[in-house]
Amino acid sequence: METKIINMDLENIEKEKLNEAAQVLRDGGTVAFPTETVYGLGANALDEEAIKKIFKAKGRPSDNPLIVHISRVEELNGLVKKIPSKAKILMEKFWPGPLTIIFEKTDKIPYAITGGLETVAIRMPSHPIANELIHMAQVPVAAPSANISGKPSPTKGEHVIYDLNGKVDVIISGGSCDVGLESTVVDVTEEPMILRPGGITKEQLEKVLGVIKVDKAIETGDTNMVPKAPGMKYTHYSPKADVVIIEGALDDMVDYIKKLKLQKEKEGLSVGIMCTDETKDFYEGVCLSMGSRKDLSTIANHLFDILRKFDEKDIDIIFAESVEKKFLGHAVMNRMIKAAGYHVIQIGG
Ligand code: AMP
Ligand code: MG
Repeated sequence: METKIINMDLENIEKEKLNEAAQVLRDGGTVAFPTETVYGLGANALDEEAIKKIFKAKGRPSDNPLIVHISRVEELNGLVKKIPSKAKILMEKFWPGPLTIIFEKTDKIPYAITGGLETVAIRMPSHPIANELIHMAQVPVAAPSANISGKPSPTKGEHVIYDLNGKVDVIISGGSCDVGLESTVVDVTEEPMILRPGGITKEQLEKVLGVIKVDKAIETGDTNMVPKAPGMKYTHYSPKADVVIIEGALDDMVDYIKKLKLQKEKEGLSVGIMCTDETKDFYEGVCLSMGSRKDLSTIANHLFDILRKFDEKDIDIIFAESVEKKFLGHAVMNRMIKAAGYHVIQIGG
């Protein structure tokens, strides 16, 4: 399949080009586009054949449901059975933006989207290209992250082109994503619960909803616990090299990683380090900084790009510094721990 690549400048969104992509969506095709979280791979959410193309292009398991994207609140009409009062509060505060809300679905939403569930996940992106594209398409757009399943989510047009060129109809390449991590998924159909940490933090949600639980199954590698968001059970974000996370006080982490590096190099392995701006001068060799500990949004923003960059280098094992599981650090650590296949070394005490 030939993929049409459309380059688009955020400062100068060309409506005719966007309209062409919107037409592809209406006609049952697939379009990858930038959002403020990560790039999405979209198709008409009401067209089962179109949805199948998303699963095929990504190699995504069919029981991993898709998020449906809308551009205006009114577009919820007909897609969901009701809008609970807590959902209304969240929509007013965080839409458009990186928050996905679970609703009871109507018959209009195909089960192919929800993996057979009676609920549907819906989000309204704030990214001007995403929002305008969905508005022009005049259909709700199902869109998972635009990467091959299992790989780090794409945060730049080049990531999408690398993964999906030849597998989708259109790729809109429109720069880097602001947040760099996927949306937070929250369920308010029952007692409010975070099913996936993401771009909107637990602390932000608690300011408007009060104390909110996090699905326990996503905090552990225990395969006997079933996460409420089916996608959370899958391995994700994996670079080619093995990833090991070191958790502890900052100085101890640095010393420990340096020691581990020497040890592995003696065994003949090539080692990469995922560090932070504050620690990068302490290491030698292949060391990529995720961003600054003083501003977790920089770490969120670079994480997936850094994981992909290690793939370009000939690295066998990556040692990664951890960050505190607070604010955006919660989502950052969730993605890192998955990339590491739950291989975390706790040091100090
Ligand atoms: P992605 O599209 O790759 O960002 O992943 C979407 C995430 O939302 C996955 O973890 C899905 O399991 C989750 N999700 C989508 N729909 C639902 C739903 N109806 N109930 C619970 N989780 C959902
Ligand atoms: Mg994904």
